[in-house]
Amino acid sequence: MQGLMMQQPLLVASLLTHAERHHGGQEIVSRRVEGDIHRYSYRDLAQRARGMANALAALGIEQGERVGTLAWNGYRHMELYFAVSGSGAVLHTLNPRLHVDQLAYIIEHAQDRIVFFDLTFLPLIESVASRVKSPKIFVAMTDRAHMPTTHGLSSMLMCYEDLIDLHHDVFEWPLLDENSASSLCYTSGTTGNPKGVLYSHRSTVLHTYAAALPDSLNCSARDAILPVVPMFHVNAWGLPYIACMVGAKLVFPGPALDGKSLYELIEAEQVTLSAGVPTVWQGLLAHVDAIKGAFSHMRRTIVGGAACPTAMTAAFRESHRVEVLHAWGMTELSPVGTVCSLKAHQLSLPVSERYAVQAKQGRGVFGIDMKIVDADGNALPWDGIAAGDLLVRGPWVAREYFGSEGQSPLRDGWFPTGDIARIDADGFMQITDRSKDVIKSGGEWISSTDIENVACLHPDVTTAVCIAARHAKWDERPLLLIVKKPGSGLDANGVLAFLDGRIARWWKPDAVVFVDTVPIGATGKVLKNQLRDQFGDYYLTA
Ligand code: AMP
Repeated sequence: MQGLMMQQPLLVASLLTHAERHHGGQEIVSRRVEGDIHRYSYRDLAQRARGMANALAALGIEQGERVGTLAWNGYRHMELYFAVSGSGAVLHTLNPRLHVDQLAYIIEHAQDRIVFFDLTFLPLIESVASRVKSPKIFVAMTDRAHMPTTHGLSSMLMCYEDLIDLHHDVFEWPLLDENSASSLCYTSGTTGNPKGVLYSHRSTVLHTYAAALPDSLNCSARDAILPVVPMFHVNAWGLPYIACMVGAKLVFPGPALDGKSLYELIEAEQVTLSAGVPTVWQGLLAHVDAIKGAFSHMRRTIVGGAACPTAMTAAFRESHRVEVLHAWGMTELSPVGTVCSLKAHQLSLPVSERYAVQAKQGRGVFGIDMKIVDADGNALPWDGIAAGDLLVRGPWVAREYFGSEGQSPLRDGWFPTGDIARIDADGFMQITDRSKDVIKSGGEWISSTDIENVACLHPDVTTAVCIAARHAKWDERPLLLIVKKPGSGLDANGVLAFLDGRIARWWKPDAVVFVDTVPIGATGKVLKNQLRDQFGDYYLTA
């Protein structure tokens, strides 16, 4: 027997409509690329998003077509989140930290029709434009007064504020199929070319409900939320959508992500909740300590993207009365998978035991099923001891990558995360290692194989192996191990100079170590685990 409830599709635009109706006066504050602070309300956001939806229609953007953004966290980016997805097109957020060749690959692969960009990225856009065929239109996210007068774009360059001014703000959000695509984010987390994760309206709205819950990111109408995590990295962990759903004030930091700028914004805007990777918080804590400052309103901070060290949890709590919410997720999971919020019986634990719990990545939010398996795929017990491959499934987990022609990454219907974890009897998951061969530095991925492939092009290199080595500031940095040709006089500077220009600047290993051999396993693969054991602390001890 069928239930007799309404079939109301779950659509991204409905989050904005809700925010306008119920929280129209709530503020959105942005530090702009132009240098000043901009503030307006959800009412203004909704009105301008409708204007931009009309502009997109006038530019001939059709449902399902991709619209790229290369932008910081700010109100214009937020308008595009809703104008693009709400009108049925697909918001493709581009990561400006990628090498220009990778960006060009991604834009071509996604077939972006238009790319919107913040002025900071004009030089990057100029380099990309000469390498791609797909976007015919570029839009600078600024007003007429700040438009670049000279530029190297042969394609059409338009002005964001002109588009808004020219178009009417009356627009009916279309009643889309909730399973249609809403946004696209590429991840370079695994080997080979970056892969696109294509979210749907349904997956986005369901994720928003789950991520907002008290034991998840715990967001409400009484919060002022500052997402430091970029809107180009998994939709800023969903916070732009969550803020609309709950009516929270939003505070966008723009390009100023240093400790001083963040602290000033947090204080001026009475931020209660912030979110970012550990590296960002190190800068913030160092600044606040240096000026002997305090947080007047901030009580919680979400730390994810990389493991949160206990020292950071303790520093926030003991020096600043700020609770760390440790969370784990992935681009393929929209991204929230687990959040480390304590259960009632853990509240009375001695501090050191509480910290031990908070070092774990947390409990699965409702909607995410998890299991850990051994090498044969057998499920392992949740005893806090057994560690195995972490697999997940759920309505906001990717089942396939964009344009991969039906090739499924799934194993028996489960998504293999590439993380190795144990799960305790209370359901708290803790990552112990990683089976995927990548390096996560300051919250962003570096492909070890890409570095190895480039290094191997050097005529004096026999073998190049790149591993993740622990780093005090960046969590991990690449370390390059080289076996050189006999008799070669190659030195570290020679290797690093060779990498210059061939990989993104921040991908360049901090050190090169010459070795006589590297360990090879039975299947002919380099045993990176052994090398990680041997050299993993290189930057901590060097
Ligand atoms: P991304 O898709 O770029 O968001 O990266 C997802 C990956 O980052 C995960 O599969 C983990 O390897 C890593 N990661 C995310 N959050 C955490 C965390 N809290 N602790 C440790 N690793 C994390």
